Amino acid sequence: MKGRLIVISGPSGVGKGTLVKRLLRECDRLKLSVSATTRKPRSEDAEGVTYFFKTKDEFRSMIENSAFMEWAIYNDNYYGTPIAPVKEKLAEGYDVLLEIDVQGAMKVMERCPDGIYIFIAPPSVETLRERLTGRGSESPEQIDKRVAAAESELELKDRYTYVVVNNVLDDAVRDVKNIIERKDSL
Ligand code: 5GP
Repeated sequence: MKGRLIVISGPSGVGKGTLVKRLLRECDRLKLSVSATTRKPRSEDAEGVTYFFKTKDEFRSMIENSAFMEWAIYNDNYYGTPIAPVKEKLAEGYDVLLEIDVQGAMKVMERCPDGIYIFIAPPSVETLRERLTGRGSESPEQIDKRVAAAESELELKDRYTYVVVNNVLDDAVRDVKNIIERKDSL
């Protein structure tokens, strides 16, 4: 049986990373699509696990070779979903999870209207700013940029199939699992 495409997006700092890790641990049939990016690795990153880290030239040649299902520029860096591994995993019957920004999700929606699109929203923009500040990995200027990006991303949340507010992580994990499992039984 062919797997399903599940797209999770939402503003940076909303807790998508932690949520996605929990989902991958708790849902057997779910596989993560590892994106390529030109941003610098952070301490928690690992090549091929969190991202494939590329130079801008390498990324651009992947674009020319149609290697991406979608790609976007976010905070002056390229991010993209390599298409071949997604196709392979779907064909093997796994559900494939894409954790991508809103621009990317809009492009995937056009291509794959049958996908399950889940927007993870913060309880408020103030909470989001506090979480980004607490993470300590970005400068105040980068945090301002991410908050501004979040505000425009939030405007597009109604285009998603589901919106889950991440206030308490356990509740958000349960909500997303319910969505995935409900669709399973259809
Ligand atoms: P970060 O730099 O914090 O890892 O990610 C920044 C943003 O890029 C996040 O919103 C994340 O979901 C998004 N992102 C990660 N990979 C991709 C991708 O392959 N395509 C797109 N469009 N966005 C991505």
